[in-house]
Amino acid sequence: METTVGRHRRVIMFPLPYQGHVNPMFQLANLLYSKGFSITIFHTNFNKPKTSNYPHFTFRFILDNDPHDERYANLPLQGMGAFSRIFLFNKCGADQLRHQLELELSAKDEPPVSCLITDASWHFTQSVADSLNLPRLVLRTSSLFCFLIYASIPLLDDLGYFNLSDNTATPLLDGLGYNNVPDDERLEEQVAEFPVLKVKDVIKIGFKKDNDGMGDIISNMVKQTKASSGIIWNSFKELEQVQLETIRRDIPAPCFLIPFAKHFTTASSSLLDQDRSFFPWLDQQPRNSVVYISFGSVAQVEEKHFMEMVHGLVDSKQSFLWVVRPGFVSGSTWLEPLPDGFPGERGRIVEWAPQQEVLGHEAIGAFWTHSGWNSTVESVCEGVPMICSPFWGDQPLDARFVSDAWKVGVYLENGWKREEITNAIRRVMADEEMRERSTVLKQKLDASLIEGGSSYESVESLVDYISSF
Ligand code: UDP
Repeated sequence: METTVGRHRRVIMFPLPYQGHVNPMFQLANLLYSKGFSITIFHTNFNKPKTSNYPHFTFRFILDNDPHDERYANLPLQGMGAFSRIFLFNKCGADQLRHQLELELSAKDEPPVSCLITDASWHFTQSVADSLNLPRLVLRTSSLFCFLIYASIPLLDDLGYFNLSDNTATPLLDGLGYNNVPDDERLEEQVAEFPVLKVKDVIKIGFKKDNDGMGDIISNMVKQTKASSGIIWNSFKELEQVQLETIRRDIPAPCFLIPFAKHFTTASSSLLDQDRSFFPWLDQQPRNSVVYISFGSVAQVEEKHFMEMVHGLVDSKQSFLWVVRPGFVSGSTWLEPLPDGFPGERGRIVEWAPQQEVLGHEAIGAFWTHSGWNSTVESVCEGVPMICSPFWGDQPLDARFVSDAWKVGVYLENGWKREEITNAIRRVMADEEMRERSTVLKQKLDASLIEGGSSYESVESLVDYISSF
């Protein structure tokens, strides 16, 4: 039962309904609840969270309540097609959202609403909030540097980067209209506008300025984030100081950088059941001896690439804990392509794990990741060095920063090749300097959480700011 006793202000929160977006929004909701706010969550029925994990929150299901509405009744539930909801609801969700917000704003038996906090990709919510004079804050679930690069996509497109091709890139959607001009030399060039990046990192983002749905979403996301009353980032100042200064110079809205994983785990917002059966095995492994492998909630690989991963792992002779989501291997239900005898005593495979807890386990020595931003921050939070195999979007950008800017990981930038996988795993497990840098980064993060530290101050000023509305 929701209790509003003693809670005088209410925050309405509206996550994008995908695991990598739901997790940070619920971590933020838990944080604001712990600071005394009453919480109302707006959510689609699609990817509905386990509401029983949040008896103290109020839930309103919006946008897809009518099962007969043909616009979304037959949309795919899995894979990239599931993202089509972002396009649809950004186009036609405004009236429903306004109606629900009007009900909340006039509710007599609930604390008054201070503000709306939505995922940055729900860009349609800004004009609805404006029309009701309701402050809208944005939760941006990727890094600050990703935002700056996304904001520069029109410029990078005009410079012709998206006309080059990179055969290790995974285009986000079919029919993007890339010219397939092989231009290997240019791929390794530095991007003048963002010297940490190589040209191939930009191509690997997988979408460009216009003529495709994702490009539109991104440019509207950037525009309406700039127009918001404030931006909350899952990050910390010491990690992205330069980018923070640039954003503060360019955008009037205040920024709040909070490393959510240090406040709450994502266990209660997990859309899949977390397997814990491997912990007795993990507990017996020596310190820093196990590679944890997970590629997040969306990524898929072809079977031949999956087999390269398997061989790369076997040849590395390292112990491993591997999250293989059902459907991760295209065309397979789960583990059908695996050879007999794999994983053997050296490894464990599960469908889904309590990732943060695993990363915090002392047996884990490295994280082989798709470089999703939550996974990256969670790894930084635990001081675990990374092996990066990004797919698209912000992931190739995260991988480049992890390997070349912070130097706490290795980027497998030539796709799936067993020798390179083996070498990268061995290198990261043995590289004591990289482990030391990962520890130092974690220590900076820990220090930022202590009273007077940047992350501590961010939480305090966010609470003050919301209370001021
Ligand atoms: N996650 C998890 N168990 C797993 C794999 C992933 O709980 O077995 C969580 C992980 O901790 C992270 C989220 O799922 O919070 C994945 O988000 P990320 O941004 O890394 O990738 P995405 O799924 O959006 O591609």
